[in-house]
Order: sequence, then structure tokens, then C-alpha cells
Amino acid sequence: MSADLHLHSACSDGIETPKIVVTYAKDAGLKTIALTDHDTVEGIPEALLAGKEMSLEVIPGVEFSTEINKTEIHILGYFVDYNNSDLATLLKKIQKGRKERIFKICEKLKKLDVIVDPEKILKAAGNDAPGRPHVARVLVEQGVVSTFNEAFNRFIDSRGPAYVAHYKLEPKECISFIKEIGGIAVFAHPDISNSDELIPQFVDAGLRGIEAYYPSYSEKTTQKYLDFAEKFGLLLTGGSDYHGINSGREIKLGEFSVDDSLVEKMRNEYLRRN
Ligand code: AMP
Ligand code: ZN
Ligand code: FE
Ligand code: FE
Repeated sequence: MSADLHLHSACSDGIETPKIVVTYAKDAGLKTIALTDHDTVEGIPEALLAGKEMSLEVIPGVEFSTEINKTEIHILGYFVDYNNSDLATLLKKIQKGRKERIFKICEKLKKLDVIVDPEKILKAAGNDAPGRPHVARVLVEQGVVSTFNEAFNRFIDSRGPAYVAHYKLEPKECISFIKEIGGIAVFAHPDISNSDELIPQFVDAGLRGIEAYYPSYSEKTTQKYLDFAEKFGLLLTGGSDYHGINSGREIKLGEFSVDDSLVEKMRNEYLRRN
């Protein structure tokens, strides 16, 4: 039995509904999952209910996009109180920024002679947290690019000509916020952000864990974060960052998992604090 603590659903930029994600996780033999959609907790009630029906433990989570010095840092919040009104207010503000950003991306694309209707992207997303993957999928569908990755490489990655940032907290603000509302803040896929030097400051702000296990990580990279965790007394977490079948990312549920003991430690910490 094992766990996958980083999953997305159609409530953000994943493909399947939370219920289907839970079904796939159950079929894959996972014991515990965490739904960690980008900047939304909309899918949590459905995932919890499905988990109950299928006897699979679902941990409520969220993945915040944050930014410091033009570097994007993703912070996972586990065991967040998804009914918290301050959380709702914050997410609403971020989601408004995400929707406005789709229009701005389309304006930039237009200047590059790529005509995409922002309403079409918002409709395809069908949720309050539209993101670049929704743009990429529409660019593929319209034949502007032939692959999801090409959309990022040519247009919308952080150095791309159609990149637009959206409203984000700074990582430390986000970490303190998660702590304040009773959640456990974890640095998501840290190696991608290339910001290891910020880890001590994050710990001071209340960071409690680090995603040391991630599909693209080499043993050496994982070891580097195991060492950070040891040094700063952080919990270890890991997950596949599953986004769905035909999402533009290859991984299937169950192909990547972490040991149940990591979940146990995180749950104990949560129970101790709340
Ligand atoms: P957003 O939150 O709207 O800025 O979109 C970020 C998401 O896009 C990430 O979670 C990844 O799933 C995906 N993404 C970001 N950069 C790339 C890239 N260079 N190639 C493929 N996917 C990417
Ligand atoms: Zn995503
Ligand atoms: Fe992420
Ligand atoms: Fe993610």
C-alpha cells in the first residue's frame, strides 16, 4: 500500500473530475491520496466523499503558485480547512487574476498572429482556476502547435512571448497563511524552482515539509532534499503531480508513489497541532 500526495483534477488544470481521480487511485492500489489543485479547493468535498465510498483516504490539499524575485515557487497546503472564509477570500482574488490573465495571454498571442478566443479557453477550463495548460490544449486543438510542450516552448513558458503572470502571494506569506489556517505547508517540487537558498527563510515562516520525492528527480536530487529535511526538521512528502490521461503529461496514477509512513508522520503532526 502506498500514497500519492500531489494530484490535480479538472477543478484546476487536470483532466478528470475528483471522483474519477479517486477511482483511478483506488484501481491503482493506492491507500492514500491528496488532491492538490492549483489555487482552488473546489474539488475537495467531491474527492472526500468519493474516498469515503471507495475506502481510500483522501487528504484535503491545495497547491498555491507563489512568486519571489520573478521566480515561481509552488507551495502545497495539506489538511487545509477548505471551508475557512479567509482561504475562500484569498482564492477568489487569485482566481480573478487567473481569469483576467487568460485574456491578457490571448492579447499577446494576437500580436504574434495567433488568434485564440479567451472565452473558448475559459469554457474548456470550465472552472475558477484556469491556467496555462488550458491555453496549451486549445493551441494544440487549433493546430497552432502540434504538442502541449511546444505550446509552452514557443509561447507560454515563463520566458515565452505570450507569458503573463497572475496575482500571487510571496512564498513566505503563503506559508504563514497555511500555518494560520491550521494546514501543513510543504515546498512543492523544490528543484524546479532552483531556490534552495530560500529554504531557511521558508522554515522561519512556518514551512513544515519538503517534496523530496517527485517523478523527475534523480536519486541525487532526492538525497539533497532528504538532507535539507534532516537539517531543518522537515517532513518528507512526494507525489506524481498527476494531471490526467492525455493532459500533456505522461504519468499514470500508481506509477509513482511514496511510503505510507510519510503520511502517518504528516497526519501525526497535523493532529498534534490541531
Ligand atoms: P499556471 O499555473 O497557469 O501558470 O500553469 C502552470 C502549470 O503549467 C504547471 O503546473 C505545469 O503543469 C505546467 N507547465 C509550466 N511550465 C511548463 C512547461 N515549460 N512545459 C510544460 N508544462 C508546463
Ligand atoms: Zn498543474
Ligand atoms: Fe506545481
Ligand atoms: Fe502540481
